[in-house]
Amino acid sequence: MDAVYLHGPGDLRIDDVEKRPVSPGTVAVDVAYTGICGSDIHEYEVGPVPIRAEASGHSIPESEWDDYLPKPMGHEIAGTVSETGDAVDGLAVGDRVTLNMVASCEDCRYCAAGKYNLCARGDAGVVTSRGFADRIVVPASMVLPVPEDVSLRHAALAEPLGVSLRGVRRSGLELTDRVAVFGAGPIGLGVVAGASAAGAREIFVSEPRAARREAAKALGADVTLDPTAVDVVEEITQQADRVEVSFECAGAGATLTDALRSTAYGETVVVLSVFEEAVSIHPNDLMQAERELIGSFGFQGGPLASRSAFTASLEHIADGRIDPEPMISGTVGLDEVASAFEDLQDPDSDQIKVLVEP
Ligand SMILES: [Zn+2]
Ligand SMILES: [Zn+2]
Repeated sequence: MDAVYLHGPGDLRIDDVEKRPVSPGTVAVDVAYTGICGSDIHEYEVGPVPIRAEASGHSIPESEWDDYLPKPMGHEIAGTVSETGDAVDGLAVGDRVTLNMVASCEDCRYCAAGKYNLCARGDAGVVTSRGFADRIVVPASMVLPVPEDVSLRHAALAEPLGVSLRGVRRSGLELTDRVAVFGAGPIGLGVVAGASAAGAREIFVSEPRAARREAAKALGADVTLDPTAVDVVEEITQQADRVEVSFECAGAGATLTDALRSTAYGETVVVLSVFEEAVSIHPNDLMQAERELIGSFGFQGGPLASRSAFTASLEHIADGRIDPEPMISGTVGLDEVASAFEDLQDPDSDQIKVLVEP
């Protein structure tokens, strides 16, 4: 079976791997669509990225890459159940499904508190990051049914949208709050859609790429700003006297500072990006303004998956509160995955979310 593996920075290959059999408690899913995630691109650029590896400065030294590579990729998956193992209840061949990649070890202090996205083991997602292939075998507990009104094409967007919706939940956004989103990639666009659905009064978006600003408008942004052309902080301060909630979805030092300074005193900035390196901010932008800077990572999985922002994103797509179509910029086959990665890296590209159709 063909599957796309990362062999090192800039080195994606289609490998011939053996089809895994189903085992008790697992199901096989025929993949219809798998989205290319910003985190996939990130690993393509810099090599394998660990989850919460504070001790190693949030990177894996090149000398240890052999332990991680080749690495299967692709975790934003929608498809159809094609086989069920023993002891699988409630799932049948032909069911349309998507996969919640947040598993749980059930053994650490975070899992004990139901905070599965913070599980200390942190490698749970590896089980489901095999979506750039015809077929994937996963624990039945990680499978979520796709509502009848949701196409598999849109179901593949439910995972990244869940990340965005969790960020909106974490922000404490209230009806009629003003919002600023920095970076209109798939996560930032999901935040725009989620904030709009949650009743934000006015949504500002800072994004250098025209195609992404356009998608932001289609998803509910009121004002889009090109940070290469205008002073975004000044614009937001003039037009809105700053905002109640900002979201950093670009992963750069300059946008983090812009997000802080665009936010009203006493209000909140949520970081949703993976940063490639440490950046500096001026702590006085927090202290003297009593702003709060918080992080948001993934969404709940484990036994509480049905209450997670991932499930909420499927519901929002099903009832029409969010139409993710403007986020999708293209569809490619397995043999075009590497060129799609190249394209997504290019700052002048119009691509936003590319779906792989194996
Ligand atoms: Zn993702
Ligand atoms: Zn755990």
